[in-house]
Amino acid sequence: MALARWKSTFKREADGLPCGDTWNLEFNSSISPRRPQPGWKEYVTQTTARFSCSLCGKRWSSNNVMVVFHMHRKGRTGTVKVSRFRQKCQKCRHAPMEDPSINKTNICILMKNLVKKIKNNCYNAALQGRESPYNKLLVTSRHMPAHCEGCIEGICTNN
Ligand SMILES: [Zn+2]
Ligand SMILES: [Zn+2]
Repeated sequence: MALARWKSTFKREADGLPCGDTWNLEFNSSISPRRPQPGWKEYVTQTTARFSCSLCGKRWSSNNVMVVFHMHRKGRTGTVKVSRFRQKCQKCRHAPMEDPSINKTNICILMKNLVKKIKNNCYNAALQGRESPYNKLLVTSRHMPAHCEGCIEGICTNN
């Protein structure tokens, strides 16, 4: 369901790309930050999200949710792979990493910023303006590096 929202928002924003080109977006958590495949470009950003623990149901918010995009254009077809970095519960000892739940507004901002990067990286356009800022959430728990995949991978903006 989350993917459907990302895809439809991306499709709307990607309308600003050269007409006739087709761009596809997919979730792919196996892409490596800082090591895009040859010919691919990377965009690393940070957004905000809510999480919930699948063991105890605890909910928390974070303003350090890392998102990595790898993009590539071949002829008239482009592909974007997205990895959303997970976090895990601070209460449960064996908590699994949970996917972030990013709200509509921030998905929209992510896609606007992504399309700017695509124009710059894949169509040699000048980068237009700065990144739009994300809507922040009220965070009540301390950021714990051992519970954040972004920290584990060394890309988290909390560091
Ligand atoms: Zn838990
Ligand atoms: Zn972190």
